[in-house]
Amino acid sequence: PNQPHTVLITGSTSGIGLAIAHCFARAGHHVMLHGLTDADTSQALLAEFSGYSGRTGFSDADISSEAGCAQLVSETREAIGNPSVLINNAGIQFTAPAHDFPAEKWHQILAINLSAGFFLARDVLPAMRSANWGRIINIASVHGLVASENKAAYCAAKHGLVGLTKVLALENADCNVTANAICPGWVETPLIQPQIEAIAREQQLDMDTARAQLVGAKQPVAKATSPEAIGELALYLCGNFASTITGASLPVDGGWTAQ
Ligand code: NAD
Repeated sequence: PNQPHTVLITGSTSGIGLAIAHCFARAGHHVMLHGLTDADTSQALLAEFSGYSGRTGFSDADISSEAGCAQLVSETREAIGNPSVLINNAGIQFTAPAHDFPAEKWHQILAINLSAGFFLARDVLPAMRSANWGRIINIASVHGLVASENKAAYCAAKHGLVGLTKVLALENADCNVTANAICPGWVETPLIQPQIEAIAREQQLDMDTARAQLVGAKQPVAKATSPEAIGELALYLCGNFASTITGASLPVDGGWTAQ
């Protein structure tokens, strides 16, 4: 790139976040890896990224608290500089009907999938505004646009994240800072494994058949999106042609929300 971006991707030790990190690093940007993982895994990840031209940092800050978010921002500044791109990707899932939903899981999902996105954006926005350029990309979900059963906390958090995205877009439209949400349907990552396993167990199916059933139940295009596809869209949103895309919630969902 003309000038490499400094990119903080939360939850980038696995799944979609890791794929996004590779996309940006491959394109020559500096990336801050982040996630809850042990020292061996983080060392292996740093080694994996050492072949790229940009700088790489790593933080294992737990972003379920405001203090953890502040820690992540300060570790990012130390490792790669002020982030010019913030990708709020870390997220967790837990499924149960609302009448049976554990309070602890509700609070945890809201904290990680929604509040962390707010605290991190709040902390990095002043520098983006002074630089007169910035990108905030929130990895929401189709569940930021429509609902499914058994996902009260997840749907509430992701709908909240879509709302937050719109506010950030309006407030920062005067200084070339865009905010958008990407809304994936099914993406093949560790996060959806418990849901595939549950179908396999309940209906006595092998994992491939259970996966096809899970995806096909919601998506007209009955195949899961690759994590790399989300990375490429995030990269596009940071390019020159995306400067007027802001406040948008972009589904990547095989037609799920077209129905
Ligand atoms: P994943 O489980 O593979 O990765 C989650 C990442 O978040 C990991 O790096 C993990 O360490 C990190 N994380 C979790 N809790 C954390 C905490 N308290 N503090 C710091 N880091 C924490 O998940 P994924 O499927 O790649 O999901 C990434 C995002 O995409 C999530 O926000 C998820 O809701 C969203 N999403 C996923 C799918 C899908 O089908 N996989 C679909 C739509 C949206």
